[in-house]
Amino acid sequence: MHCPFCRADDTKVIDSRLVAEGEQVRRRRECVQCGERFTTFETAELWMPRLVKKDGSRVPFDEEKLRNGMLRALEKRPVSVEQIETAISQMKHKLRALGEREVESLMVGEMVMEQLKELDEVAYIRFASVYRHFQDLDQFREEIERLAKSE
Ligand SMILES: [Zn+2]
Repeated sequence: MHCPFCRADDTKVIDSRLVAEGEQVRRRRECVQCGERFTTFETAELWMPRLVKKDGSRVPFDEEKLRNGMLRALEKRPVSVEQIETAISQMKHKLRALGEREVESLMVGEMVMEQLKELDEVAYIRFASVYRHFQDLDQFREEIERLAKSE
């Protein structure tokens, strides 16, 4: 792997461990030439179903987009990167376990909400209010009440 600092061809792995419930390998690398250290995360490239949007168009599953949506909802909340990565791994696992070539993108949204509900209620409400496009305050209040009841 190229060094991101000096572009040297050779970097060596100085530490390697499993993260996100074993679905990722975190590697600490050191450049042989300039001595800079950096970290890489390795994930097995596995087939994911395509997403069918409301208008019928098909888009590839986009892990970055999913992560960004969650990070936005979790901004300044007490949830670690490790917890987020674990949640993403679990969702990908579930999607693959369906064994479908295509799934409704709505379903992914629901999965994200489920995960956020467990991680952090504020993030859940943030995400749900954007995702479900709460029309007015009543709808929003209903959701909060529903949440309070389910505890
Ligand atoms: Zn270097």
